[in-house]
Amino acid sequence: MADLGNPKNTIEILNKYKFVFQKKFGQNFLIDTHVLDKIIHAADITKDDFVLEIGPGIGTLTQYLCEHAREVVAVEIDRMLIPILSETLSGYSNVTVINEDILKIDLNTLVQERNGGRPIKVVANLPYYITTPIIMELFERHIPLINVTVMVQKEVADRMQAVPGTKDYGALSLAVQYYAEPYIAANVPPNCFMPRPNVGSAVIRLTLYQNPRITVKDEALMFRLIRASFNQRRKTLLNGLNNSKELNFTKEEILNAIREEGLSDNVRGETLTLEQFAGLANRLSPNR
Ligand code: SAM
Repeated sequence: MADLGNPKNTIEILNKYKFVFQKKFGQNFLIDTHVLDKIIHAADITKDDFVLEIGPGIGTLTQYLCEHAREVVAVEIDRMLIPILSETLSGYSNVTVINEDILKIDLNTLVQERNGGRPIKVVANLPYYITTPIIMELFERHIPLINVTVMVQKEVADRMQAVPGTKDYGALSLAVQYYAEPYIAANVPPNCFMPRPNVGSAVIRLTLYQNPRITVKDEALMFRLIRASFNQRRKTLLNGLNNSKELNFTKEEILNAIREEGLSDNVRGETLTLEQFAGLANRLSPNR
């Protein structure tokens, strides 16, 4: 089958099937062979790898994955793409396409059944309307993962990689960096897609920590503290945590924890590292 990274081949297959792009599914197909090579390289795909692809579209990235990986499972929500994928992937015996919503699949069972529970790689040009839910689902359900290499909006990639005290730093940075080490492998302009998105994109690789980077007694409490401090970004950490409806500590308990953590009374949440949020959660958890 012809390389769909070549725009001419993509147009030909779209015309043949009279394919109509569905905006609601975030369909922007890749048409740039350099970007496709970069994704494969960033994810470090080898013949040892089992790869889960989310949203194969017409199979452009899937073809590259089939060439480099041992086995590929691709989950696509749009049933109109299934006959197209049968044609574009017909030359490969190491791929399975599943017509389903990725958020409705039990991925732990899939990894158990198809890869004996061994860690997998996830690669995707993600539908932008559900980037964060997909990534958090992968992390919070503790799917066995080596890395997750995804095309996302540039602005989202910047937030995932942001460090304390910068404008992009927030709950998403901390959630991602709790589980994985982010690395932006490429910036990708709109003209690499069909149709062109309105925003710039980036390929980000998230390499999972196989042993937790920090230890926290109550993970859920730590994430509530994080959310509360970024919900009220302009407020001090003390006021942000004290005003939060999700938390019910007294002002004195919060102030004591802040001081014991070696922070100043009027510190802002946006300057705290993940370790400091974990420290606060550990100090506050006996008061719950
Ligand atoms: N991988 C292809 C490429 O790079 O050209 C297509 C990428 S396109 C940005 C996103 C794909 O995800 C579309 O094919 C879309 O139909 C699919 N998709 C959207 N929501 C989905 C969901 N909830 N589960 C599975 N696939 C989904």
